[in-house]
Amino acid sequence: MSTMNRRDFVKLAGAATAVGTVGFPMVGFGAPKASVVVIGGGYAGAIAAKYTKLYVPDAEVTLIERKKEYISHPFSNEVLGGERDMKSLTFTYAGLEKRGLKVLQDEVLDIDIVSKTVKTKGGKSLKADYLIVAPGIEIKWGAIPGYGQEAAELAPHAWEAGPQTLLLKKQIDAMPDGGLLVIVAPANPFRCPPGPYERAAQIAANLTHAGKKKAKIMILDAKDAFSKQALFTEGWKHNYGDMIQWVGASGGGKVMEIDAKTLTAKTEFDDFKANVLNVIPPHRCGAIAAKVGLTDDSGWCPVNQATFESKKAKGVYVVGDSCIAGAMPKSGYAANTQAKVAAANVAGAILGMKIEKPFLTNTCYSLLAHDYGISVAGVYEVGADGVLADVKGSGGISPVGAPLDTRKRESVYGVSWYNNIVSDMFT
Ligand SMILES: Cc1cc2nc3c(=O)[nH]c(=O)nc-3n(C[C@H](O)[C@H](O)[C@H](O)COP(=O)(O)OP(=O)(O)OC[C@H]3O[C@@H](n4cnc5c(N)ncnc54)[C@H](O)[C@@H]3O)c2cc1C
Repeated sequence: MSTMNRRDFVKLAGAATAVGTVGFPMVGFGAPKASVVVIGGGYAGAIAAKYTKLYVPDAEVTLIERKKEYISHPFSNEVLGGERDMKSLTFTYAGLEKRGLKVLQDEVLDIDIVSKTVKTKGGKSLKADYLIVAPGIEIKWGAIPGYGQEAAELAPHAWEAGPQTLLLKKQIDAMPDGGLLVIVAPANPFRCPPGPYERAAQIAANLTHAGKKKAKIMILDAKDAFSKQALFTEGWKHNYGDMIQWVGASGGGKVMEIDAKTLTAKTEFDDFKANVLNVIPPHRCGAIAAKVGLTDDSGWCPVNQATFESKKAKGVYVVGDSCIAGAMPKSGYAANTQAKVAAANVAGAILGMKIEKPFLTNTCYSLLAHDYGISVAGVYEVGADGVLADVKGSGGISPVGAPLDTRKRESVYGVSWYNNIVSDMFT
């Protein structure tokens, strides 16, 4: 095992967080004994567990995930488009186990955030020195009147990839030419801001390939603007003509009630009866984080945005969609970089080292067709007010009106992004 002095570690940690998924050189220490439990094995938790173990190989790191296999939400829209199958989204935790982490397939039912004791459905009780909580999101059932768990079996949300994705795909495949598919999009903040609009394009690709060119897709939105709007509008038109229509909140798009039995979305002014109804309802942080007191009134978890340590409990870190991270979107890439910052800070706490303030990164690719991609990228730092904000002059967005060659290259970068990030998570 190699050793490294304090200054080198701190320098490396700063660099690692600046480069996001590019990585952090493996370091080893004769570290004091420490135990770390990570809850949730998704885009945030798998990375937090892996990098904590990389930074402090002597630490006992346990990842608790309720599912045997992880199904990626990113690129699940492409399943709806007929571009991918579920297998290409499905991963086991064997790669992480090979790295010496303990992976426990179990559901966390309770956490004592003071003593850092975790209780599971399988009857286990684990006491840790540090906790990293990464349970993703929970759908707010009933936030739209009429939309509860039973309604989701008729009008799927498909906002957690898995059986819901397959149900929606089946309905799209059975939709008649000339039929209407309605997507109900939520207000901010929500998981994957460009997701509903990429989904519309992918569904249009499916319908077009099936020869159902008279079908219509209507997005009823609870807001008046959305991520990469000009690019989506341009790309929808280019690839699918007038098939996709977007209605913002002030144009009457805010859905007040769902009648799942008749597949009807009711707005203030109109009722829209659909052949397929995809409701993406409001959500909040993963249920376990809310249950144990890690949330504030917003329904999300406040953290020190330079370290991701919870503002509600010392030695407990919250990363990924569950946490409040200033200007960062709730995305898989953001979750990945946040998890690396939390892992570096847990390592720093174990080793008694100060970790520099991080820079965080995010890029969101959206595939509107198999050869048509667009993206937005951001670099973030913590300001004097403690909130993560865009670094001035950094980041960027694909240009409107770019040649098709640019769109094609971005579609290739998007697929490459996916292959790299899941490799970072599971190998
Ligand atoms: C359709 C769609 C497309 C998307 N596309 C992109 C994209 O292209 N790029 C991008 O960057 N992001 C994308 N996202 C967003 C991305 O999926 C999320 O931001 C990301 O998954 C957040 O990671 P997370 O670890 O916080 O949550 P998750 O990945 O959901 O992981 C949470 C994990 O915690 C587990 N868990 C929860 N509670 C417990 C418990 N009590 N006990 C044990 N385990 C528990 C869950 O089973 C789950 O595996 C997309 C999302 C959707 C829905």
